[in-house]
Amino acid sequence: VSAAILDGKAVASRRLERLAADAASFTGRAGRPPGLAVVLVGEDPASHVYVRNKGRAAEAAGFRSEIVRLPEDASRERVLGEIERLAGDRGIDGMLVQLPLPAGLDPVEVQRAVPPDKDVDGFHPVNAGKLLLGDDDGLAPCTPRGVMALLEEAGTDLSGAEAVIVGRSNIVGKPVSLMLLRRHATVTLCHSRTRDLAAVTRRAEILVAAVGVPGLLRRQHVKPGAVVIDVGISRITEQARAEELLAGQPRRLERFLRKGHTLVGDVHFGEAMEVAAAVTPVPGGIGPLTVAMLLDNTLLAAERALARGR
Ligand code: NAD
Repeated sequence: VSAAILDGKAVASRRLERLAADAASFTGRAGRPPGLAVVLVGEDPASHVYVRNKGRAAEAAGFRSEIVRLPEDASRERVLGEIERLAGDRGIDGMLVQLPLPAGLDPVEVQRAVPPDKDVDGFHPVNAGKLLLGDDDGLAPCTPRGVMALLEEAGTDLSGAEAVIVGRSNIVGKPVSLMLLRRHATVTLCHSRTRDLAAVTRRAEILVAAVGVPGLLRRQHVKPGAVVIDVGISRITEQARAEELLAGQPRRLERFLRKGHTLVGDVHFGEAMEVAAAVTPVPGGIGPLTVAMLLDNTLLAAERALARGR
């Protein structure tokens, strides 16, 4: 027996189609497209790829996209100044500052400078607080929203279910746990100090991994019949590691041997597929949904701005 693969890419492309139609309707009513701005500071190569993808997805869905690229040595004042400018731009409904920031810039200060009603990453304390309180008029973080969208798409019954999340970050683990709690799951949040991780994760009917340790979760961590959502994305280059983590995926191993690198999740995909009911692949699972949810948040912010009369 083999689990179902939860195809996040397909779900994301259906959502993006719907978003494009909704964005066109917004543009017709507002006389302008919904607008997304991304501030990128420095030269982090992964960040450049992420930001380019966000901009392309926004344009493909009929949004206005503005990417502000600032040099590695941009001053605090310069970065805060750009944020202030975008905050006051009526054509921009959603904005975010791509992390990580270069050393010397305080990510907490920078994120707090984004006005909560344009904070489409959902990282501002006001939005985090609204999520905690179950108040729906905030903006919730994109990757956790992607996790929930995929669970919904998979038809997973959340009410009363045992859900275990591994990783307690503010951007993934913690908000996912709040969203699952809101949907009446019984939630356990694990982290690096959790004793006997496998004993806890083996109880999970829904297992969410957001750690950043390639292949941390193996066969013995997965309950038979579980739905496994792998948020982790790590790049590996070592052949022995690839042979271990891509076991059961001969085509991907072949590609690794040609290219010398590949992306893997926190879950050993081949082993999880033997035990679970459904598993997300990496890449092609949660990643694409994160971008779709970013545009969803931007359109939500745009509709709210329009309803307020601007
Ligand atoms: P983080 O580093 O902020 O947090 C990692 C968490 O994992 C911490 O809470 C830590 O306690 C826990 N942890 C570390 N080692 C552990 C261990 N051995 N056992 C149990 N728990 C352990 O990471 P993050 O920002 O939440 O990201 C997690 C992963 O998700 C990364 O691979 C990241 O690249 C990926 N990610 C993907 C997307 C996306 O798909 N779009 C978005 C955000 C993050």
